[in-house]
Amino acid sequence: MVGELEQILYLVAAALFIVGLKRLSSPATARSGNRLASIGMLLAVVTTLLDQGVIDYPWLAVGLVIGGGIGAVLARRVAMTGMPELVAAFNGFGGGASALVAASQYLAQGEGELVTAIALGLSVLVGAITFTGSFVAFGKLNGKIPGRPVTYTGQRVVDPVLGIAAIVGIVLLTLGGEGAEVAFWALLGVSVLLGVTRVLPIGGGDMPVVIAFLNSLSGVAASMAGFAIDSTVLIISGALVGASGLILTNIMVKAMNRTLLDVLAGGFGGDGGGGGADLGDRTVRRTSADDLAIVLAYANSVIVVPGYGLAVAQAQHALRELADLLAAKDVDVRYAIHPVAGRMPGHMNVLLAEADVSYDRLYDLEDINADFSHTDVVLVVGANDVVNPAAREDPSSPIYGMPILDVDKAQTCVVVKRSLSPGFAGIDNPLFYRENTLMFFADAKSAIEDLVREVRQS
Ligand code: NDP
Repeated sequence: MVGELEQILYLVAAALFIVGLKRLSSPATARSGNRLASIGMLLAVVTTLLDQGVIDYPWLAVGLVIGGGIGAVLARRVAMTGMPELVAAFNGFGGGASALVAASQYLAQGEGELVTAIALGLSVLVGAITFTGSFVAFGKLNGKIPGRPVTYTGQRVVDPVLGIAAIVGIVLLTLGGEGAEVAFWALLGVSVLLGVTRVLPIGGGDMPVVIAFLNSLSGVAASMAGFAIDSTVLIISGALVGASGLILTNIMVKAMNRTLLDVLAGGFGGDGGGGGADLGDRTVRRTSADDLAIVLAYANSVIVVPGYGLAVAQAQHALRELADLLAAKDVDVRYAIHPVAGRMPGHMNVLLAEADVSYDRLYDLEDINADFSHTDVVLVVGANDVVNPAAREDPSSPIYGMPILDVDKAQTCVVVKRSLSPGFAGIDNPLFYRENTLMFFADAKSAIEDLVREVRQS
């Protein structure tokens, strides 16, 4: 009876995960989706606690206090711009936890039957790769590890050799006997190494995709651990994370015009930022708050393109104030959101939601790109790579083929940023030198606040 009740509660938890995920698909329902999925997780944890045989309560309490404490501190402290690092760390802990579950199962009951042994092996392999790979991604994002592709002699040989060693380890584990134990620990060691060697050669420009992919892998590892310990809820929740992570990866590689294989092969992207562009014989046209306020106030239509710099400057509240002022002057103000603007998927949506910008003012790339050519003014705030026309026009550009917001097609394009420095991909942007582009060199927050003041007075 208790067993049946447990299964029912796990089923309810799984249903809450699914409904929660569904609700995450729209900004309007995302908060409640998150809440439902958290309740599902709480239910799953409590149900597991009710199964007295799992582990002693004091140990559980220690784990809860340490894990919960670290999670709460990190989540409270993290700035919006540091969110991708936090996600990378969470993925890493998820993968590591699955590998540990598999290891403890192995220590308690050995490799078991064929299916269990395969699940154990895969859980260790994928979990450990996710663990170390995610922490390398974490280091690359916060600058502790160089963002450029880190390559070394023999790299093309090392990874296949480690990959083959991992497969041999899993086969030996399934065969059981004396070799199984050595195989298990060797597999763990090889997998830990593979995570490092696979992510190091991948450049900063591809980190968003890597993190989404590692997120998917953390789900696969959890699912495999679920098979190993015969836990339905772990299998289901892991599969959900695995599938949603893969969908996100797919959306992102498309948005950057990459393929997953390209990304994993490495070699693209740099540290990002740093250093001004060489002007050569090109010139830029500058503008200032008072001139721009007039241009904006007399426009019929304005499209705002937010980017990473908006998040750095925390200018979202000032931006909304500006949009409200313009709307009061009958200017049609909309926001164009590129899928990889900022430093994490949905970064701009979250930022603008924080400033209470209405969701119906936000447009995805494919829904708004055709409108730029008949828009009076485009206001690019702290965005760079996602509006770089080289992606459309220059086949030699590293980002050639990446879908971009066609801001250069508007009548006037205003770019607010501090200098001519490149963005995350580390490449020059020909947009800045176009005839119809006005550069407003300033920190985004002070620039928009100045604009608010000027528009108010105009
Ligand atoms: P970019 O990184 O291309 O450009 C951001 C620009 O913001 C910089 O050129 C910088 O110029 C400017 N900036 C920085 N601070 C400020 C400030 N305080 N005030 C005003 N401007 C500022 O950003 P995009 O959003 O256009 O593109 C995102 C890039 O990040 C893409 O290459 C994407 O692939 C990558 N990426 C995306 C992730 C995602 O999931 N969204 C995750 C990780 C990477 P200046 O220094 O001159 O001010």
